[in-house]
Amino acid sequence: MDQQANPNYALAELDKQTMLHPVTSIAALEADGPQMFGKASGVRIAGPLGHDVIDFGAGLWCVNVGYGRQELADAAASAMRDLSYYHLFGGASNEPAVRLADEILTLFHEQAGAGHLSKVFFGTSGSDANDTAYKLVRYYNNLRGKPEKKKFLARAGAYHGLTYAAGGLTGIPAYHKAFDLPQEGVHHLTCPHHFRFADAGETEDNFCDRLIAELERTIEHEGAETIAAMIAEPIMGTGGVLIPPRRYLERVQALLRKNDILFIADEVITGFGRLGSWFGTGHYGLRPDIVTLAKGVTSAYFPLSATVISEDIFETLRDASAEHGPVMHGFTYSGHPVGCSVALENLALMKRENIVANAAEMGDHLLRRLREKAGDHPFVGDIRGEGLMAAVEFVADKAERRFFRLPQGAHRVVARHCLQQGVAMRPLPFIEVVSFSPPLSINPAEIDEGVDAFVRGLEAATPELVKLAAD
Ligand code: PMP
Repeated sequence: MDQQANPNYALAELDKQTMLHPVTSIAALEADGPQMFGKASGVRIAGPLGHDVIDFGAGLWCVNVGYGRQELADAAASAMRDLSYYHLFGGASNEPAVRLADEILTLFHEQAGAGHLSKVFFGTSGSDANDTAYKLVRYYNNLRGKPEKKKFLARAGAYHGLTYAAGGLTGIPAYHKAFDLPQEGVHHLTCPHHFRFADAGETEDNFCDRLIAELERTIEHEGAETIAAMIAEPIMGTGGVLIPPRRYLERVQALLRKNDILFIADEVITGFGRLGSWFGTGHYGLRPDIVTLAKGVTSAYFPLSATVISEDIFETLRDASAEHGPVMHGFTYSGHPVGCSVALENLALMKRENIVANAAEMGDHLLRRLREKAGDHPFVGDIRGEGLMAAVEFVADKAERRFFRLPQGAHRVVARHCLQQGVAMRPLPFIEVVSFSPPLSINPAEIDEGVDAFVRGLEAATPELVKLAAD
């Protein structure tokens, strides 16, 4: 089509003149223009090439109940009419915030081993939820007379957000280099992804032993008395849907507990059903001291996050309250009544429609289809998933276990062709992976349609992949 006849042409030009995009190459945007997305409903969104595509990303892993749900629009409109905004500072409160805190705690308390989680702090993004955790851990250790306990452990490949503190906990170099991150006191451990980072011939169990030994050595070397906390996603998302080795998380947790180091579970992706369980921590039987949540709590219909803390941390803050004064942390939009109302309706809708059970079932279906249809492809090295969080990892040579180099962008080539074929896929920034995280409301026919489009995209990309593999 003549570019200027495209109805989005003027908008695309205006975009280039006016916006600095997050996580976007300015050079590429100026050369190619933005990709304009339009209206969305269910699992489909109007794509930039003039046709609808199935969104296998659920936005950024967040549109759990699918797009365009009337119930959520109604909840927002009604909440805006009742109380469009009020804050929680200085003891102010509002009904939707109280009810949502109670609902989140109730969901945790229904799962084994989470009875100790006792208070919810609200924010607006996954990043600020992790920054809140980062600050509360420091506060907690200062209050209990351990001010030297300040270091944080995280993992290479982790994604915890891009504000300053969370950005340093993130373990993906591309996010660090321009910003003098990570900050002092953050240590990244080996990425727990066996397929890519195990030594030749190393079994998954041996790989796990090596990771645990590294953690032990790090604690010993740095001194447990200097380490405040470790943060971990139950399954690393942006890193590449990296499913840790069996028993890794429980062994990490046991070591941390033994050394009086707090365990923060970043459930910004895995919270609210993505793994086919309400929470990843329940899915893996973990008992974190802090859990951070965002995205799926409102299915991204409103920006809202939560940092959930244990009774022990809360008691320490409470006991010091008379002497130390207020908790001097918070945001204008903490406990926003519109966001909390949307979240309450979103969670009610998820229950009414059994969306978590659907995620478990559809996850099995998705993996089966992917393995059937793409498992033999010469550049597909690994297909993995848990619930509706799945990935395909590309290799340049299967037999030799040779990987593409990241800057070659093999996975970006595949994603580009997939979009033409009718499915929006996300190429991830750490290793050569495209992720599959559709809305949890997806049905088998939609999965089949999306997988077929993915396979067509992969076939169309193959000549380019052949060239990259030889490069
Ligand atoms: N933690 C995890 C695990 C995430 O996946 C993300 C976002 N992808 C974040 C934190 C940061 O969330 P936000 O972009 O809302 O700040």
